Amino acid sequence: MLSLSGVSVAYDGVDAVVDVSLDVPAGEVLAVLGASGCGKSTLLRAVAGLEAPRSGTVVADGEDVTRVPTHRRGFALMFQDGQLFGHLTVARNVAYPLRLRRRPAAETAARVAELLELVGLVGYGDRLPGTLSGGEQQRVALARALAVRPRLLLLDEPLSALDAGLRERLAGDLRRILVEAGTTAVLVTHDHEEAFAVADRMALMRAGRVVQHGPVADVWGAPVDAEAALFLGYARVLDGARAAAVLAAAGRPGASAVALRRSALRVEPAGALAGTVVSAAATPDQVRLVADVEGLGRLDAVGGPGLAAARVPAPGAAVRLDVDPARLAPLRRARG
Ligand code: ADP
Ligand code: MG
Repeated sequence: MLSLSGVSVAYDGVDAVVDVSLDVPAGEVLAVLGASGCGKSTLLRAVAGLEAPRSGTVVADGEDVTRVPTHRRGFALMFQDGQLFGHLTVARNVAYPLRLRRRPAAETAARVAELLELVGLVGYGDRLPGTLSGGEQQRVALARALAVRPRLLLLDEPLSALDAGLRERLAGDLRRILVEAGTTAVLVTHDHEEAFAVADRMALMRAGRVVQHGPVADVWGAPVDAEAALFLGYARVLDGARAAAVLAAAGRPGASAVALRRSALRVEPAGALAGTVVSAAATPDQVRLVADVEGLGRLDAVGGPGLAAARVPAPGAAVRLDVDPARLAPLRRARG
């Protein structure tokens, strides 16, 4: 549905986005993930038509829209701060784009009711935005963005202003709402959890470039380098002899580095690695520990099925550890 090829954007001769090529199939959600300042918003603005690319093309539904003005692209935008009209009720905010297009009142009212149901705000129509929580306000902004059934929805950090717990819940809701609406969407975020919760595909950006892209599970399972792995939420990256030892224990030799999840090492009586407990604590469903592993140094590990919370090992205790091959990613290269 959306196809970018060779898109570069510069501000005063300084490149902010460099040679980005990406495709988003109809009905899918692409997350553009990267650290602050890497060019995510600039890329989104170029797709929206708010910045003119220095080179490259933006194609939507087979139509080259690179030179088409923003309001003729049929896209909708939503930002971190939903920018609701404070003096209009929730229903009026959602109806706003429909009124601009002079849709009949009955059709508008029906569409508003449908959208409020979609975003879980039935009964909120007469409230003013100032009386809503931050999460509710973002739902209203989302309903408004979806009102005219845009062919592409562009979301710039839509949950970033919310606190962590709420952000997590709303990310799941956002996924459901986008899938139910059948919208093709591009979501910009610096939060890997949000990208995983919401998107089908992911593009990882660094210094203006896309360094890796593909289905979310593929990117997660095979980060392109150590920096990508750490940004995606892996706990540690080992290289050299330490990587070789872990990969051999996992039965996946042959890579030069390895990224480990916090739960990649597991306490197992017959485990391949020997270690000493540094610290340990029980959570409701597992025992988490830090172990000094022979030849590897201090690493996180979790208690296997045989290690009940009631038997948290004491510091100094000897443990054997196994490596769970499903909880690590061999890396082709340690550096970017
Ligand atoms: P992100 O959204 O990933 O945080 P941005 O796209 O906002 O990154 O910014 C990318 C780079 O472009 C940054 O170095 C930023 O300072 C610069 N930049 C962004 N907007 C402008 C602008 N309007 N004028 C000049 N430089 C800008
Ligand atoms: Mg930004």
